Amino acid sequence: MQTSSNKTSKTSNKHCLIDVEHLSVHFEGYKALDDISFQVDEGDFVYVIGPNGSGKSTLLATLTGLLEPTSGKVRVDTKGGIGYLPQKLFNKRNIPITVEEVIYSGFDKQYLHIKEVQRKQIEKWLHTMQIEHTLKMPIDKLSGGQQQRVYLIRALINKPRLVLLDEPTSALDPGFRDHFNQLLESLHRLGITILYITHDLHEYQDENKKVLYVDQKIHYYGSVKEYKCIHEGGHTHV
Ligand code: ADP
Ligand code: MG
Repeated sequence: MQTSSNKTSKTSNKHCLIDVEHLSVHFEGYKALDDISFQVDEGDFVYVIGPNGSGKSTLLATLTGLLEPTSGKVRVDTKGGIGYLPQKLFNKRNIPITVEEVIYSGFDKQYLHIKEVQRKQIEKWLHTMQIEHTLKMPIDKLSGGQQQRVYLIRALINKPRLVLLDEPTSALDPGFRDHFNQLLESLHRLGITILYITHDLHEYQDENKKVLYVDQKIHYYGSVKEYKCIHEGGHTHV
């Protein structure tokens, strides 16, 4: 992955954090992504949508550098850090790793002992995510929804400038989902740039956010408002 730290988008004065040009990712000849180009500016909130198997997770994994482009260029400004929540969570049984250790691995640097200031941060986040009792528990003893909360904390703990979330609410119950979406709103208001893979656009009211509709190619990239106008009635499930 190439990184660029001082690039400005051609279409606005905002700082360009992600610049994808003619990106293709193939798996044994299958085109998961086929010649896509788009940019994301600092402060953007982009919903990435598309049917199952349309290349959404492949796109986010390529932005993090976990997957290499087959062709094309991906430039991500990594200054300020990236928080990433993958769709498939690490879930090896019999590895005695605790919730605290999983979250701690999300910090830039680890020391021999967790610093007091870091422990306080971890405890605060566990409280925000309503799982404070899990601190010392092995991660594999938690329910799917609790694990998802832990990995969300891991993605956010370092206050990254850019956050990439792959279906972050899939295992969360509806009540907590609302709470989590409000939390993301507050992070966005602080200026954090967010790419968010979801299937449920209708839940989200802020029509100034962006939608990136991917299905091998980019089928739409623009505001939620315009997207909803095109797709009658405002209720969209992909
Ligand atoms: P989405 O997240 O939109 O559901 P994915 O990006 O996970 O879709 O997958 C896009 C396509 O690429 C699917 O057909 C999937 O089977 C295929 N694919 C994804 N990862 C791999 C891989 N590591 N090896 C082979 N095929 C893959
Ligand atoms: Mg996926």
